[in-house]
Amino acid sequence: SREWHLVRRPKGWPVPEDFALREVPVPELGEGQVLVRNLFMTVDPYMRGRMDERESYIPPFQLDQPMDGGAVGRVVASRAEGVEVGDHLLHRLGWREYAVVDAAHAVKVAPEAASLSAYLGVLGMPGMTAYAGLLDVASFKEGDSVFVSGAAGAVGSIVGQIAKLKGASRVIGSAGSDEKVRVLLEDYGFDAAFNYKNGPVGEQLKKAAPEGIDVYFDNVGGDHLEAALDALKLHGRVTICGMISQYNATERPSGPGNLVQILAKRLRVQGMIVSDHDVLRPQFVEEVGGWIRSGELVVRETVYEGIDRAVDAFLGLLRGENTGKMIVKLAD
Ligand code: NDP
Repeated sequence: SREWHLVRRPKGWPVPEDFALREVPVPELGEGQVLVRNLFMTVDPYMRGRMDERESYIPPFQLDQPMDGGAVGRVVASRAEGVEVGDHLLHRLGWREYAVVDAAHAVKVAPEAASLSAYLGVLGMPGMTAYAGLLDVASFKEGDSVFVSGAAGAVGSIVGQIAKLKGASRVIGSAGSDEKVRVLLEDYGFDAAFNYKNGPVGEQLKKAAPEGIDVYFDNVGGDHLEAALDALKLHGRVTICGMISQYNATERPSGPGNLVQILAKRLRVQGMIVSDHDVLRPQFVEEVGGWIRSGELVVRETVYEGIDRAVDAFLGLLRGENTGKMIVKLAD
């Protein structure tokens, strides 16, 4: 079985030489374990943080060890009660072709209920982040005007669509290409959208939301956050979900120069980590699952094929090569 190891901690932007695809023997199964042929694995922005050696909410990857992350696969051997060969499992041992998984740390997923990769995207961690970050953290309510950055990505595209479905007065998104802007407007039903590479974010946001915004869902940080602080209305709310513009920074980035807006406009700015919001999961599965079945929620993915392309997919994610969730397909 092949698996990806981190062989060097990246300095700034990761490069292919920081990783190695290695052939390893598949270990024997212990009691309570299953052997899973991974079919899909996810690459996510938070994995960049795990490549650094530092304290965080999740431990760093170890050098010369397999990386891990979400994956969905098919059980090919089982020593666990209640799990049969042929079952499909969502588990945390991605970045490898075959995984020996403790059945207690995996959940069964139904291939007929949704496409298997959806459990890594809209029905999984990113979807849950969008749902909890908008409805819980930002206390979204009907009539709010919402701005989301990283809007064509896995989390952002769901944030914008949930806001529309829940009665937002206006939904504005930013993304890094004209084609993504077209997708936001035509496929996801955003009211306004702009390419942040086409001009200063502040000016473009002002044009897109002349009356200001009630909620900012931040996936990007930096100049996007600064622009949003200017555009927010009195008692506006901000979800700090991600700051991807800074994940490869080699020096401490400078902060927005307009933090006084938080004071003047009595803003509420709150960080989030999705795993804190597990109590919302049943409600999330029911509501978002319903929107997928009814076709009200449009879901897109960018799929790279083959274990050997997993690092390309991760590097591509950081460069914005994905529209919707970035997925690696390992087998049929
Ligand atoms: P995406 O699918 O949005 O992929 C990342 C996107 O980030 C790229 O497609 C790219 O799109 C954009 N990007 C890259 N560099 C920059 C930059 N310098 N400025 C602006 N945009 C940039 O990933 P996810 O949906 O999985 O994650 C989105 C954000 O949410 C990330 O910040 C992530 O860390 C965060 N997150 C936080 C969680 C939490 O619990 N707090 C959980 C899950 C995700 P473009 O072409 O538009 O530049």
